Amino acid sequence: MNMSKNAPTTDQKTDTRLTHAGRDPASFHGFVNPPVVHASTVLFPDTASMAPGASRYVYGRRGTPTTEALEDAVSELEGAAGTKLATSGLNAITLACLSCLKAGDHFLVVDTAYGPTRHLCETLLARLRVETEYYDPTLNGDIRRLFRDTTAAVFTEAPGSLSFEMQDIPAVAAAAREIGAMVLMDNTWATPVYFRPLDHGVDLSIQAGTKYIVGHSDVMIGTVAASERAWPQLQDTHGAMGLHVGPDDVYLALRGLRTLSVRLERHASNALAVADWLAERPQVAAIRYPARADDPGHALWKRDFSGASGLFAFDFVPSVTKAQALAFLDALKLFGLGYSWGGFESLAIPVRLQGIRTATAPDNTRQSVRLHIGLEDPRDIIADLAQALETALG
Ligand SMILES: *Cc1c(COP(=O)(O)O)cnc(C)c1O
Repeated sequence: MNMSKNAPTTDQKTDTRLTHAGRDPASFHGFVNPPVVHASTVLFPDTASMAPGASRYVYGRRGTPTTEALEDAVSELEGAAGTKLATSGLNAITLACLSCLKAGDHFLVVDTAYGPTRHLCETLLARLRVETEYYDPTLNGDIRRLFRDTTAAVFTEAPGSLSFEMQDIPAVAAAAREIGAMVLMDNTWATPVYFRPLDHGVDLSIQAGTKYIVGHSDVMIGTVAASERAWPQLQDTHGAMGLHVGPDDVYLALRGLRTLSVRLERHASNALAVADWLAERPQVAAIRYPARADDPGHALWKRDFSGASGLFAFDFVPSVTKAQALAFLDALKLFGLGYSWGGFESLAIPVRLQGIRTATAPDNTRQSVRLHIGLEDPRDIIADLAQALETALG
């Protein structure tokens, strides 16, 4: 067996990277996985070893073999100059924003960004005198119209949270680069397995690892992977914030990463089967899932992404009332009612866009539901949806 370090090669396929990235058995007596290093203090043999740059590890917060293993694996997967870990997905968003924004900057944020991202912009970033402007996700290259002399960064997310609009990420990134603005992307939906933001001009690729990387609904963690030009500032900001993720959580994320692509494949095929079934129900007006040919974002998804995850939403026909939509959710037995997604189990939540869209006018006349399709047998998932539709809507 080859125990030597798996030098990353550019021609390795994603599944091969997922299996080998961030592992160096030869450094750990041949054990397949890295140790879970619980550490604050690192002891040095002498004062010379304490000089800056003289030792690989200096203090727990500054990195351990466990944190490095996950960072290296994500960097390889993302094609990044470097990766830093954060204590949650939202913390990763905060880290990425703070690493490229300063007082007086203009910050363009997609209107369909994850809700708490907007909260960050409207509180902490506003207090630091960063001016956020929300933009329509369908602007794509026309985002140029909104550029100012002070525009420092553009935040993207595709598909959008809750409503699933696609963005032309290469077009947004190309426009931003014309004025030297940093491009951030919350890529939690596709994961780097199905879309590699840095290959498309993004500088800071954000993952709520809590979702598919961890995959088992038991850990909160985030990652930010940086391009060459964004990496120095990301490193500095991470250090300044004193961020550190506990080794057990890092280890569970690394374990989840190994099976990311096989889980995603099943999530996607189950989700497509369920979405196709739902599309035929008389109570359903539209499915919001870029992987389906009738989705407005399908062409962009097909051009840029190599797969879909198990998260989508659907709209009821206008005659379905709010009370009926909630009764439908309450009637579900297999689906859990709960925030988050990306774990092995199916989840559902009501979608409310009121108050979390300002640059676009969402259709608030229809009731919508977001589903995360888990790894259960799709026939059982469909049976649950069928009985809930019957119970709530007749
Ligand atoms: C859940 C989520 C986050 C935040 O992740 P946490 O780990 O819950 O903080 C960020 N972005 C998207 C798109 C998410 O769905």
